[in-house]
Amino acid sequence: MVNVLLSGSRVCRHFAAPLGRELRARGVDAVLSPDHGPEAADYIVLDPSGPLRDFTPYRRVRAVLSTWAGAEVFATNATLTQPLARMVDPAMTRGMTEYVVAHAMRHHIGLDAHVRGLGGEWQQVLPPLAPERPVTVLGLGEMGRAAAAALSALGFPVTGWSRTPRPLSWLAQSLSGSAGLHAALAGAQILVILLPLTPGTENLLGQTEFACLAPGARIINAARGPIIDDGALLAALESGQVGHATLDVFRQEPLPPDHPFWHHPRVTVTPHVAAETRPDSAAAVLAENIARVERGEPLLNRVDRAAGY
Ligand code: NDP
Repeated sequence: MVNVLLSGSRVCRHFAAPLGRELRARGVDAVLSPDHGPEAADYIVLDPSGPLRDFTPYRRVRAVLSTWAGAEVFATNATLTQPLARMVDPAMTRGMTEYVVAHAMRHHIGLDAHVRGLGGEWQQVLPPLAPERPVTVLGLGEMGRAAAAALSALGFPVTGWSRTPRPLSWLAQSLSGSAGLHAALAGAQILVILLPLTPGTENLLGQTEFACLAPGARIINAARGPIIDDGALLAALESGQVGHATLDVFRQEPLPPDHPFWHHPRVTVTPHVAAETRPDSAAAVLAENIARVERGEPLLNRVDRAAGY
């Protein structure tokens, strides 16, 4: 029998039933509760927006399993010495791919002009086809690889950028490390950001980086807000160097009502919905990880504390 502490109200509300089901399906006898004390809990299933921050008393915990893909909240938490897994779920990856492709295609075919209406003017503007539209994807992990593959399959020449070299045959170009960043951005007409937030990516994109893009480039940030210098982005939108920014993530969430992004004519705000954790599929991922640890197998999707993601 294992005790699974459900930490955070969202986890308690949405995960108790599917996680119980998935654990039973794997033959794991478990008691799921928000009330297991530190001396009783064997696993913690965690909503990082919940209150738990001090993991010191949870000495018998075999693994902490986050329901989020981003690990920035805990990667630097010195009290969390137990193995930490982040959420990697094919359904979440699919959600992100759909979001990125939808917003990239919106910009690519100039959909806004038609959604707004041409006001009775029969204006035929011929957009370039995908092979003529260079796209750069920053981050080639679970999310970035899938989004880059979908965009490549549509015919876009996709440049990918990662921390370590990821030479994927279907990429037009694959670059890595700080030395490769400006070359990866050079001439991109659509920039997709799918990096984790770490000390190495915070404020990564500012005036110099925006200047590398093609004039009027479109930016899609579905990763984390602080990767972009907001002031530099507003200035680049003002000058026209950046034509539009589609932002799903922000330094402060919810985005404060008086933030200039809300009403900027060339900013699209979505409320951190690019790839939500879906309890049914995510519960299967959590249960599989618990079952693996119970069988003595290594944890999947383990966060590398040194790398910060
Ligand atoms: P992964 O850990 O699988 O991939 C991260 C990628 O970023 C890797 O390719 C990694 O390089 C690269 N990277 C990390 N640090 C650097 C750096 N300093 N320089 C260059 N490249 C770097 O993460 P996921 O793809 O699963 O998720 C990415 C992020 O997306 C999450 O951390 C989260 O913040 C965000 N997210 C947002 C959601 C939303 O709804 N808006 C939903 C889900 C995730 P390498 O390959 O060399 O390791």
